[in-house]
Amino acid sequence: MYRSPFVLGVADLLGREASPREVTIEQTVDWGIEMSRVAQEIPILADLRLHPLSGGVAITGSVAFTTSDTCFRCLDEFATDRRAAIGALFDTNDDDDESYPLDGDDIDVEQLLRDEILLSLPIAQECGKDTCAVVTSAQIDLNTDNPGEEGDTRSPFAVLKDLLEPGD
Ligand SMILES: [Zn+2]
Repeated sequence: MYRSPFVLGVADLLGREASPREVTIEQTVDWGIEMSRVAQEIPILADLRLHPLSGGVAITGSVAFTTSDTCFRCLDEFATDRRAAIGALFDTNDDDDESYPLDGDDIDVEQLLRDEILLSLPIAQECGKDTCAVVTSAQIDLNTDNPGEEGDTRSPFAVLKDLLEPGD
């Protein structure tokens, strides 16, 4: 039976004599935003510490990952090593938005890691290369069959609007 690598059994942390323990998750993912995506061929590496809590589990730690980024000026692609801090609660309280769900003896940290990684990504960044130069809309239009229509090439403002108002 398939079990997500992000699902952790935490029965040992819910007992009276529970003590904290470390968990490492190494997994490839397909997460990202328009101008910065986690590199699909390089696994994310989450170093987590699970702490017993009354009625749940707390998680602290960090996740290291590499992104494939697009320069917002010249549209060149480049890779960046990043790290995001992790800190969250898992409990059975469904009514608040501040914790993630504890499902029986299991917690699923996928949503938590995805949330923290996506929140840490830059909306716009430069490659920093000497050759970096702005790609103007005039240059883009020369390469487009229908310059007036919104096709594969979109203005940076359209891209930014999507980022600020996620479609899903
Ligand atoms: Zn650039």
